[in-house]
Amino acid sequence: MIDGQSYQGGISQFNESQKIAKDASRNTEANESRIEKLESRIYQLSLISEALWEIVSKKSGITESQLHLEIQTVITSRRERGCEKLSCSSCSMSVPANKDRCMYCGNELAGKTKGSPFDE
Ligand SMILES: [Zn+2]
Repeated sequence: MIDGQSYQGGISQFNESQKIAKDASRNTEANESRIEKLESRIYQLSLISEALWEIVSKKSGITESQLHLEIQTVITSRRERGCEKLSCSSCSMSVPANKDRCMYCGNELAGKTKGSPFDE
């Protein structure tokens, strides 16, 4: 037998679960919309990159295999820059050495190394 208090508690839990489900549904829709915009933007940037590559390769004579080699060089360089760490002088956390500020406390990092305009 279910008493009144248990019954009310069950309804309250059900309503809370419904609210959580609706919030999750809204968040999913918002995230899907953001993903669609990002995919569209990435496609647009990819088109621009390809068009720029066509111009550069025609005007300079740089071959596709030279481009592949350079891509590997960039991948290696990014990997190396991302692996370097230093200790934040404020919070002592280990942070990437290529950052301007500590990602944990926001302290300005004095020991920044090998910065690149393409780093975050
Ligand atoms: Zn810090």
